Amino acid sequence: MNVQTREALRWDDLDSVKFADESAAVKRLADETGLDAGARKRVHDGAIELVKTARATTRSRGLMDSFLQEFGLSNKEGLALMCLAEALLRVPDAPTADRLIAEKISGGAWAEHMGRSENWLVNASTLGLMLTGSIIDVDPDARQNPGDYWRKMTARLGEPVIRAAVFRAMGIMGEQFVLGRSISEGIKRAKKGEGALCSFDMLGEGARTAADAERYHKRYLEAIDAVGKVRGDKPVELEHGVSVKLSALHPKYLAVKEERVMAELYPKLLEQAKLAKSYDIGFCLDAEEADRLVISLKLLERLAREPDLAGWQGLGLAVQAYQKRARFVIERLIELGRETERRFLVRLVKGAYWDTEIKVSQVAGVDDFPVFTRKVSTDVSFMACADVLLSAPKRIYGAFATHNAYTIAAIKQRAGAGTEFEFQRLHGMGEELYASLAKAEGNDKTPVRLYAPVGGHKDLLAYLVRRLLENGANSSFVNRMADTSLTAEELAADPVAELAAMEPKRNPAIPLPKDIFPGRVNSAGIDLADPLVREPLLKRLHNLRDRQWEASPTFKAEIPGEIAPITAPFDHGMRIGTRRDASAEEVDMAITRAVDIQPEWNALGGEKRAQLLEAAADQFEAHTDEILSLCQLEAGKTLVDAVLEIREAVDFLRYYAVEARRLFTEPTPLPGPTGEQNYLKLAGRGVFATISPWNFPLAIF
Ligand code: FAD
Repeated sequence: MNVQTREALRWDDLDSVKFADESAAVKRLADETGLDAGARKRVHDGAIELVKTARATTRSRGLMDSFLQEFGLSNKEGLALMCLAEALLRVPDAPTADRLIAEKISGGAWAEHMGRSENWLVNASTLGLMLTGSIIDVDPDARQNPGDYWRKMTARLGEPVIRAAVFRAMGIMGEQFVLGRSISEGIKRAKKGEGALCSFDMLGEGARTAADAERYHKRYLEAIDAVGKVRGDKPVELEHGVSVKLSALHPKYLAVKEERVMAELYPKLLEQAKLAKSYDIGFCLDAEEADRLVISLKLLERLAREPDLAGWQGLGLAVQAYQKRARFVIERLIELGRETERRFLVRLVKGAYWDTEIKVSQVAGVDDFPVFTRKVSTDVSFMACADVLLSAPKRIYGAFATHNAYTIAAIKQRAGAGTEFEFQRLHGMGEELYASLAKAEGNDKTPVRLYAPVGGHKDLLAYLVRRLLENGANSSFVNRMADTSLTAEELAADPVAELAAMEPKRNPAIPLPKDIFPGRVNSAGIDLADPLVREPLLKRLHNLRDRQWEASPTFKAEIPGEIAPITAPFDHGMRIGTRRDASAEEVDMAITRAVDIQPEWNALGGEKRAQLLEAAADQFEAHTDEILSLCQLEAGKTLVDAVLEIREAVDFLRYYAVEARRLFTEPTPLPGPTGEQNYLKLAGRGVFATISPWNFPLAIF
């Protein structure tokens, strides 16, 4: 599938460190920050100053701060708002959204069930009213017994008011983070002094359809055009730019769809890049999920080698320091810059998808996480990555995107005087910190660029959820800075020293993907996003295509029945093997045998049965290639679905193994006639005929 060109190798083999051992990786990074203990002490002092000044100058608390102070994400109310955002903004039309809210609010029974999932809407609506100003302080009753509170509130105000308030609350949250609804509004607001320098981002990502992708593409083109038209006469680094999310440009922007991405997404990206070049403005590829890292780098490399884009120094991308591959990515970018005579604009970020990466890896059953599991490790990685970026000023213009005072002070310290770089902050965040930096810097100010999202509420969801997570996590700097019980000294703690004191380096509170289920091993996943896994697997599956399978009954009669071909459902001319259906005589043999062996089976007990089920699961995993091949050829599954099928089968077997053990050791009472103690007995129930469904031939069987 993939031609192993030099370019492909450059990026593909990055995946050999995707799941690198965390301890070893962070120990190395801690030695590579470019700051010795003395320098880090100066950083600590500088960070304290930044925090103190920022705290002293903080104007009245913003809406977001007040919200976080009141609720945070560690309680139900805070989480509720996220859930509400998720549910509401996903609903495509207003009448359905109204019905959703009406149904949940007027349900009635939910009120008694505090802690049950329905409560999120109840609580979120409380917030809705609070934020719109209808209720300035949340009634203490509301916090103690939201169900009861809500019943009264609904009766008093009526559903339509509540519905409107909830939507309004979402709107207010959105306005906090969005610079304008259109690019012209965004540019106008930027001019008014919201931020001298901007990187505009058109909200919208994860296109679901080709029409979505086309719409987003047009919006990016319009944005580039509008930003280009207001360009001044400064070098590209000192002018507005545009940031693009590649997932907005194609519904199948996935590593496994590399050929389609190159054929269909790349031309759009190239068109945008050419337009950006024509105005000589910055054009930055935002960083998204870890599985998309390599493919994004391949796209970047193609752009970097385009003859039509030669000489333009506006091409850039964001690199996430929380990824174990980050430092290697930067080294290779420098190499690519040398080869193509470019100076990339590299925005270093910590990474906004941490929760997702952890959960996705756990669900996918992969070997480890592509990201670090301790916050300080990411902080240290950021410093080490910054050191490499700042060491290659001819090839990299470094942009350091953070709202963390220690990180800001560390970059200042490492860069020293005379190095060209910039800081970046998100619209609606970090104002006070950067104002205090400007005060400390006097006349020698580092440029600070504003990342400025532009768009309507409809496209806000994903961005808003990330900002809420970021602001609400109690480990996040902005959240901690709002917590006045923490001193400036505590906020300015040195992550290198903190990490050195931590053992183990990997966070033990976050179980590895294989360990997420109590009592059983998670089924092993296959990381199809990794070309080092995918390409050899595809080769092995290709070799298995010619294999001829023979299916026949387990109990064989003397006179065999007719042999028929098995063909692929997607190509009836493709023969996979032969099958011989069981004759009536063979079915009788099977039933007799089953009846015979049932007492033996019953006598096995829970442990032995569990072992048999586990052995079967292990056998499935040992024969993964053959089963994947059969799932594809006989059941017509895609590779992704075939992997899910085998994993589900393995999980079922292991799940029931645990259940067999449990049920034999703790008898489960069943409801029975009054006064009688009836227990579930694990015993064979007789002989069953089973037809396994065609769509899950292995897992359900
Ligand atoms: P801090 O509070 O110091 O750091 C928070 C970060 O630490 C989290 O976001 C996470 O990355 C990391 N973290 C938290 N807990 C853990 C843990 N247990 N283990 C390991 N790491 C942990 N993000 C993107 O992904 N792609 C982008 O293109 C992007 N563009 C951005 C542009 C700008 C201008 C800015 C300011 C941010 C951008 N971000 C982007 C968001 C960024 O990645 C961070 O999420 C955010 O800036 C918080 O970092 P901080 O230094 O301000 O805060």
